[in-house]
Amino acid sequence: MTRITSVCVYAGSRPGRNPVYRVAAENLGRGLAERRMTLVYGGGNVGIMSAMADAALAAGGRVVGVIPRFLEEREIRRSDLTEQHTVATMHERKAKMAELSDAFVVLPGGLGTLDETFEILTWRQLRLHNHPILLADIGGYWCDLLRQIDRGVSEGFVPADEGRLFERHETIEAVLARLDTLAAPAHADALRRA
Ligand code: AMP
Repeated sequence: MTRITSVCVYAGSRPGRNPVYRVAAENLGRGLAERRMTLVYGGGNVGIMSAMADAALAAGGRVVGVIPRFLEEREIRRSDLTEQHTVATMHERKAKMAELSDAFVVLPGGLGTLDETFEILTWRQLRLHNHPILLADIGGYWCDLLRQIDRGVSEGFVPADEGRLFERHETIEAVLARLDTLAAPAHADALRRA
């Protein structure tokens, strides 16, 4: 089995009200670094996503950012990452982040995190990739979203198997333990054409 070596994390560009979100982001960043897994994220110096990058770097990990030029100021482009890719558009950002990654983890976040999550979920729905998608449901943050997806299933808009395109985990420890068991997918070529 080829293990996962690179993980894309979608996370809030804000700190959130409850410090548990930042702590979760830090634990994930550190845990990835300890596993020698590269962290791929949005490349900015804001919110819990930045706390995650700090923790990964402090633990000696590889951190790769992907930031659109027009956001370099607003999201405070970091120059201390292992690699930083500057792209032209949001679509390019999402495509590049996906291309660089074997798996996806979703931390609590806002509309941007939702956008990124649903794009990667629908790409999987369309069989453009079969990379694992792990939802970190820290403090039950995503429970209403999960309920909405279940509603889609019960109302006949979401096929039941598509409601299971991602895995839910309640803690970062569970996310990391799962990443340890997963094989890297062989489907990278399809993703590049998405
Ligand atoms: P938020 O969850 O709203 O705090 O945003 C998290 C990250 O998602 C930020 O880095 C945003 O720039 C990014 N983002 C927002 N919308 C998009 C989009 N359409 N494509 C790619 N990234 C996005």
